[in-house]
Amino acid sequence: MTILMNDFSREPEALHAAMEQAFGEVMRSGWYILGKRVEAFEEAWATYCGTQYAVGVGNGMDAIEIMLRASDIGAGDEVITSSLTAFATVLGITRAGAIPVLADIDPESGLMSVASAERCITTNTKAVLLVHLYGQVGDMPAWENLCAQHDLLLFEDAAQAHGARYANKMAGSFGKAAAFSFYPTKNLGALGDAGCITTNDAEIFEMAKRLRNYGQSNRYEHTELGLNSRLDEVQAALLQVRLQWLDAFTQRRKEIAERLLKGITNPKIHVLQAPKTKDAHVYHLFVVRCAQRNALQTYLTEQGIQTLIHYPIPVHLQPCERSFNTDPQGLQWAEQFAATCISLPCHPQLSDEEVEKIIRAMNAF
Ligand SMILES: *Cc1c(COP(=O)(O)O)cnc(C)c1O
Repeated sequence: MTILMNDFSREPEALHAAMEQAFGEVMRSGWYILGKRVEAFEEAWATYCGTQYAVGVGNGMDAIEIMLRASDIGAGDEVITSSLTAFATVLGITRAGAIPVLADIDPESGLMSVASAERCITTNTKAVLLVHLYGQVGDMPAWENLCAQHDLLLFEDAAQAHGARYANKMAGSFGKAAAFSFYPTKNLGALGDAGCITTNDAEIFEMAKRLRNYGQSNRYEHTELGLNSRLDEVQAALLQVRLQWLDAFTQRRKEIAERLLKGITNPKIHVLQAPKTKDAHVYHLFVVRCAQRNALQTYLTEQGIQTLIHYPIPVHLQPCERSFNTDPQGLQWAEQFAATCISLPCHPQLSDEEVEKIIRAMNAF
């Protein structure tokens, strides 16, 4: 039996029963898109994140586009983000009409480097889109200072960081607005595509609600060129159920990470260190680096352990037709990281025996 990166079939029966119940209720209600279950989940998610508002949308990439457009970021505006991220981060920026500028990373965490971001600033820079990569919230005061000093808006791509905290503030509550994805494999996932924007700004909230629904202010009255990025009632109802389990699942991810951190002692493998405050990492992904990464991946596959690479190609080296602006000093750390990183299973349904098996395999390599 291969140990998988995610295994939803092994989730608790009580969770699955509650999801079935929620699904049945939506089906019988006769109302399927943007209804009272979406509103109830938006309220619950805003409360969880400690923000005033949340707006449910179709997916995480749309959440980034809508968040930026609702904040008046668009044509000609430069937005600094990390080159080591999901391509969707950068697509969200380009879809908003803005220009992504890619910064290098700190090789100890994989997170965007403040010094590199600073080198990316030009007279056209309007915002920083901070990615809480792998579930880690980095040095928030440093980002807040940088943005304050250069008069930039701070946005969060919190698609991997549901429930991560820094100084008791939640991911999703630091910036002008934040984007979440509820893609099934995220720490809080739906049974299909779903996403959300959180903010404390009433204008961004109102604008985001218009943009997700064709730019309508009233029925059939279009004040914006919006998109169709509405959240389904069934996904909202399922997310509401799964939200009740999020903290327990996060706790289990942290336990597993702690075991892996302690257990993996192979000198060929560099385990990314835990952040100074342990609530600042929710272990969406548990990542190590290894010079013989591809050989390690093959070995683990043979041992019955699935792995993935996040990410094998940094955004600035992607083979798409468009080239990207970058840190003028280059992105050497992002490139090195992409060539050596590997993500190990750490989902909440893993048993202690499976975690031990992963540790043994890592040390035997
Ligand atoms: C998953 C993810 C996204 C995109 O979310 P989708 O719901 O798949 O569109 C954006 N940014 C990061 C960092 C992600 O992990």
